[in-house]
Amino acid sequence: MAETQAENEEHDAILKMRMDAMLNSSPASFLSLVGALFAVYVYWSPSTAIPLIAWQFVITAVAVTNLVSTVLYARNRPQRWGARSWARFVCVMHLVSGLAWGVGGAWMLTFANENQAVLTLSIGMAAVTVSIPSVVYLRAYNLFHLPIFWTYALGLALSTLQFKWLIASGFFLMGAFAIIIGRALGDQLSNALHLSMENKRLAERLKDRGAELEAANRQLEIESHTDPLTGVANRRRLMSFARAVRGRCALLVVDIDHFKSYNDSFGHVEGDTCLVAVAAALERSIRPDVDLLARLGGEEFAVVLNGVSAEEASTIAERMRVNIEALKSARRARIKRDVTVSIGLAVRGADETRSLAALMEQADVAVYRAKSEGRNRVCIGGDVEGNRNVA
Ligand code: GH3
Ligand code: MG
Ligand code: MG
Repeated sequence: MAETQAENEEHDAILKMRMDAMLNSSPASFLSLVGALFAVYVYWSPSTAIPLIAWQFVITAVAVTNLVSTVLYARNRPQRWGARSWARFVCVMHLVSGLAWGVGGAWMLTFANENQAVLTLSIGMAAVTVSIPSVVYLRAYNLFHLPIFWTYALGLALSTLQFKWLIASGFFLMGAFAIIIGRALGDQLSNALHLSMENKRLAERLKDRGAELEAANRQLEIESHTDPLTGVANRRRLMSFARAVRGRCALLVVDIDHFKSYNDSFGHVEGDTCLVAVAAALERSIRPDVDLLARLGGEEFAVVLNGVSAEEASTIAERMRVNIEALKSARRARIKRDVTVSIGLAVRGADETRSLAALMEQADVAVYRAKSEGRNRVCIGGDVEGNRNVA
């Protein structure tokens, strides 16, 4: 069912391309008026005047209709006409035009002298030659070409001309060749149109795939830098962030106190909820885009504070400690009991160049000290002046 609809859509799209080619303004309509005037002039006599005027009228009406229809098609009028309606219209117009030229020319040939016949045959040949491009829509091409060739053949057969059977047979055969050549050309054109549709589809599919891949890449990039449980940065992101930080900064290592007991009491799932709550509380204490919070693993976090002094870093670390201590009573997070953290702090001065690893080592020692001194406190590592317990 879906396939049939896709086939229909493709058929309509190709028909639309054919109509775009068929209904572009071509000089053929003007030429037909000139050709008809020639014929009327050459065959003019009192006894043929009325049929000739009638014929000229029909040819003019067809030419004007063709001209007007190209303008309407270009302006997308009537709006409810799709490619199929236009295709039917084009077929009718080609048949009417083919019959007008064919029947008119054949009638003239039945009483033509040699000179008149040469002119009629020339005009007929010119008409079929000029309309060869209509092979882009084979049905219309045949509806125009066959009436001309075969009615001319009939007219020649009924004429009084010398070699009339020979010329009549020639025209009959030319009609047959027009079908064969038209079909071969039409098939090639059809293949080209199908291929161009296929190319368009492939290009669209490639574009979609490209957008999907880009989105997947962006997602991967985010995931490769993010801790899946808490959504904060991971160790990899911490390292690249710290490398980019120059001069004065502070590194905090935050370790949840007695977390194993929390897990043992409430289970791993509750433990996870608690980790998420602690991460959120820590994140609230830092400046977005300036500082960075990362989960190092387990119940350990690290914070890089950019451009801060030892005093500022201590104040921020202390604020973090207090916030986490207050988590349970603030009821912000659905944690099961009070949680505290021990924080180790390492500070780098403006002129120093110590690496993240060196700061981390110092902060780790400070955490260890905070633990041994009773937990729930901030300790500053290294030989920074004022190295002390804040809590
Ligand atoms: P201390 O105060 O000395 O830091 O004691 P602690 O119990 O926090 O430290 P310890 O290193 O003995 O235990 C850490 C615990 O953290 C062990 C493990 O059960 C828990 N843990 C580590 N990663 C996760 C995790 O992803 N989810 C949960 N729920 N628990 C984790
Ligand atoms: Mg630990
Ligand atoms: Mg711990």
